[in-house]
Amino acid sequence: MKVLIPHNEIIDICKRIGKELTEKFSGKFPIVVCVLKGAAPFHSELIKHIKTDIEVDYIQASSYVGTQSSGVITFKKDFGADIEGRDVIIVEDIVDSGRTLTKLNEILKTKGAKSTTFVTMLDKPSKRTTPFVPDYIGKTIDDLFVIGFGLDLDEKYRNLEDICVFEEE
Ligand code: IMP
Ligand code: MG
Repeated sequence: MKVLIPHNEIIDICKRIGKELTEKFSGKFPIVVCVLKGAAPFHSELIKHIKTDIEVDYIQASSYVGTQSSGVITFKKDFGADIEGRDVIIVEDIVDSGRTLTKLNEILKTKGAKSTTFVTMLDKPSKRTTPFVPDYIGKTIDDLFVIGFGLDLDEKYRNLEDICVFEEE
């Protein structure tokens, strides 16, 4: 495998987005939600660079695609906090079809979030099947399968410090 985005570049991404979130949410008290498992390393680095009061929370979503093409999202772990009336920042590892975050956005609206902000470490816009546009993007990549820094292939490679691709890509 080869390195696509080295660790130091991921740290720089977290510093940049952390600074932007600090400016946007200064004086507010947003909930910064990690979408487990993939976003865990990115979320934990990102929150170090948000220099205002925040609450952290964790959810685990699983998407099932049935015989119809519409994906259904269920929670393996639901929100710990009551998000009604709160500013909610969702932190994802990668946006691909956009289905997961589109559904999550609907759920947040039903739960009465005051505002929703979507942050993703990586974006693969070429694979989009929904009109979903993240608010903050670490890096836009081509249609490649990536692993590392939280991203897995069959649960492996989440522990790599860099974001990598397999050589044949
Ligand atoms: P979608 O945007 O609903 O299609 O779902 C995105 C999810 O698919 C991410 O949260 C990842 O779990 C997974 N995913 C998409 N592309 C990749 C990849 O290149 N490597 C690892 N996981 C991926
Ligand atoms: Mg994921």
